[in-house]
Amino acid sequence: MAGASVKVAVRVRPFNSRETGRNAKCVIQMQGNTTCISNPKQPKDGAKNFTFDYSYWSHTTVEDPSFACQKQVYKDIGEEMLLHSFEGYNVCIFAYGQTGAGKSYTMMGKQEPGQEGIIPQLCEDLFQRTGENTDPDLTYSVEVSYMEIYCERVRDLLNPKSQGTLRVREHPILGPYVEDLSKLAVTGFSDIRDLMDAGNKARTVAATNMNETSSRSHAVFTIVFTQKRRDQMTSLDTEKVSKISLVDLAGSERADSSGAKGTRLKEGANINKSLTTLGKVISALAEMQSNKKRKSDFIPYRDSVLTWLLKENLGKFKES
Ligand code: ADP
Ligand code: MG
Repeated sequence: MAGASVKVAVRVRPFNSRETGRNAKCVIQMQGNTTCISNPKQPKDGAKNFTFDYSYWSHTTVEDPSFACQKQVYKDIGEEMLLHSFEGYNVCIFAYGQTGAGKSYTMMGKQEPGQEGIIPQLCEDLFQRTGENTDPDLTYSVEVSYMEIYCERVRDLLNPKSQGTLRVREHPILGPYVEDLSKLAVTGFSDIRDLMDAGNKARTVAATNMNETSSRSHAVFTIVFTQKRRDQMTSLDTEKVSKISLVDLAGSERADSSGAKGTRLKEGANINKSLTTLGKVISALAEMQSNKKRKSDFIPYRDSVLTWLLKENLGKFKES
């Protein structure tokens, strides 16, 4: 696994009714892990190819042999992350794209069979694997939190009573955290599924009340997975703790319209600071990886709530 720390996947969804109604033409093709984009207005230019770790063709239906279903996306991306978390690493998955691109479908999905997204599949797989353990010296614990970041404010999706926003603080050892955020211990998949449902409902209610907040907010589902091993000889416990952060980002069109694509950002004109900062953090991390001398103090985690809270997930790369 040397060096491989960031993976990028692209997925194309089916047309929505508006696109079908306008007789839209699909300009994307996927071959292996390459995404090809053609411009029907300039057919002479030829297709432009971009290679990613995965390019998922989900434009058609399951009958199509090249169709990438929810299960496949989970098997490639989610399962790998889960295995890293069993090794004790912090992991993180982001879904990025414009509103309507399919972020929530990929992360959460629907409750129909075969339609569940990465998050429910990962939770189910986690409990499946811990349930298979027969080693009496090895015990597991799982804690879940679910929050929404909107306009740099944090809201607890698992505590219906907490109406206000929560404070982000820094622990001298454990790093950034959200004060008073519910962290619920779960012992099985049905517990976690109920929490997920409650959180998703809390998110939808807020979205209708605050006109379309959800497309501008980030939903962060966090699993803290602890493995405790007892050494029979010494009677000492050792703990391996992994934080799994699964993030359904705000619609990227908001970042574009704020001018975030340009080199300079006007202070205040920034509609979604967390989204633009995430871009800067990821490119700074990528630069650090290619140029080993650069120090991590240059990474602007502190510039937004999302990147600050995910500092421990983003910065600790798997080296060997
Ligand atoms: P976003 O969260 O990016 O705004 P959604 O996940 O809500 O977008 O997707 C928009 C619509 O497209 C939803 O109705 C969703 O069910 C559908 N959709 C998205 N991706 C897929 C896919 N891969 N297969 C089938 N339907 C999809
Ligand atoms: Mg969504």
